[in-house]
Amino acid sequence: MITPLPQPEPNADSRPYWSAASEGRLLIRACKACGAKHFMPRHLCPECWSDQLEWVDSAGRGTVHSFSIVHRAPTPEFAAGTPYVIAMVDLDEGPRMFANVIGEGALAVAIGDRVRVTFEERGDGMKMPQFTREA
Ligand SMILES: [Zn+2]
Repeated sequence: MITPLPQPEPNADSRPYWSAASEGRLLIRACKACGAKHFMPRHLCPECWSDQLEWVDSAGRGTVHSFSIVHRAPTPEFAAGTPYVIAMVDLDEGPRMFANVIGEGALAVAIGDRVRVTFEERGDGMKMPQFTREA
């Protein structure tokens, strides 16, 4: 039996992010005070400590900063998917985020590859932002 992959667990801070993901949109945080954009929901701007933050849409395109190919799954749920790619992706807007590189040719990923966001179904309408390599 293949165990389903875990679903995201939204909390008060991350709920807008996951709601948008379920609609096929990638959100990032932007600071209204200094303009910095960042990834990972939080209350304060990591650049200027302002609490005047908003959600903005990312175009969902970026470059692979680094990656690792996982052959030994950390939990049983991921075993069926091995080997798979976990990558640090630098979004064109600036923020760096972790995600899987999935789809055709994923295991041939290289640092510097251009990637585009895609949304992996996780059941109950939940979707996980992941990336695919651009041709
Ligand atoms: Zn700021």
